[in-house]
Amino acid sequence: MKSEREPGLETRAVHGPHIGASGAMSTPLVHSATFSFDSLDDMVAQQNLGSAGSFYQRNGHPTIAATEERLAALEGSETALLFPSGMGAISSAFLAYLKSGDHVVCVDPCYGGTQALLQWGKERFGWDHTFVDSRQPDTWEAAFKPNTRLLHLESPINPTLVCFDIAWAAQLGHAKGCVVTIDNTIASPIGQQPLALGCDVSLYSATKSIGGHSDLLAGAAMGSRAALAPVFHARSTFGPIADATSAWMIERSLKTMPMRVAAGNANALELATRLKAHAGVAQVFYPGLPSHPSHAIAAKQMKLGFGPLLGFEVKGGAEAALQVVNALRVIRHGASLGGVESLASLAAFTSHKMIGPEGRKRAGIPEGLVRVSAGVESIEDLWADLEQALAAVRG
Ligand SMILES: *Cc1c(COP(=O)(O)O)cnc(C)c1O
Repeated sequence: MKSEREPGLETRAVHGPHIGASGAMSTPLVHSATFSFDSLDDMVAQQNLGSAGSFYQRNGHPTIAATEERLAALEGSETALLFPSGMGAISSAFLAYLKSGDHVVCVDPCYGGTQALLQWGKERFGWDHTFVDSRQPDTWEAAFKPNTRLLHLESPINPTLVCFDIAWAAQLGHAKGCVVTIDNTIASPIGQQPLALGCDVSLYSATKSIGGHSDLLAGAAMGSRAALAPVFHARSTFGPIADATSAWMIERSLKTMPMRVAAGNANALELATRLKAHAGVAQVFYPGLPSHPSHAIAAKQMKLGFGPLLGFEVKGGAEAALQVVNALRVIRHGASLGGVESLASLAAFTSHKMIGPEGRKRAGIPEGLVRVSAGVESIEDLWADLEQALAAVRG
């Protein structure tokens, strides 16, 4: 009997899906938008390979394909497609699965860009949508209509880090005849595997944990060949194709992704734990804390920890939160997540500004909420920075 050991996550990250292959250690960065052939047959053969073929970059490209293959192997999906941004991936998926007159059920609050996309679709493409409260899954079933074609999920949700049972949600979506997509950006493809939990397509802003160094914009869609065929069609039609350099940089980043994600997640848990005990903090939002309402389900479906993102409410409201963020030095004030650099931002002034105080109240987002994406710096430096910033709050 042959005993083939399944290589571990870190090994797959470093070596990619072809362990033991000889040749270049790093995937060659091919700067070529088109490829030449000795015969029409050869050309058609490459064309027919779709994203895995080298025919013309808008269809497929060797450096992009190598990155897609490594990404797929990390999540355990059959295949992957790379995009020039996360919104490129999400909008291509929606364009792929929705026709005029179709209805979408989407968890609320989802990423702001996705809300804007749904609004765009409503005004220009004849899509309709209903938002369902991420905290109350028992209300979701009533939102489905006979023309609902897509269930779009996101867990955990920024910035309150609400999580729900993804396997249950995927089952509900399928029972209603929907394609089930999930924005898995916050957890990352190694932090949570929604395809194994029953989702059809997982979507990413690769700008975040996948790229991991705040130096590139990219996106990804993962799923079976069959599930991604319409997404590939939308990508070739509308043209959001990653460039070869970004693909190469992502492939390089993937080699250290398990270490980066594990370190960021561990820092996030430690900061959340210490913030919870701090006198200047009213409330901490982190699914890794047993006191978080989603802790049990997060522990079941998240791997490698509970993600890099946490939120905390500063006593004293929006003004006090602003003072804290302004006083931070090591943790930089900026609007991204999942990078090696720790970042802080203010939900009420940035990501959740548009919905106003009433909208924030409904979504359970306190005015004084500071969102932190934990990077991989020394934990004592991050904590000292937060302590001095909290001490800087006047009154
Ligand atoms: C950043 C982000 C996006 C959008 O990705 P871009 O790469 O900026 O287009 C989508 N979803 C989530 C959860 C994000 O954090």
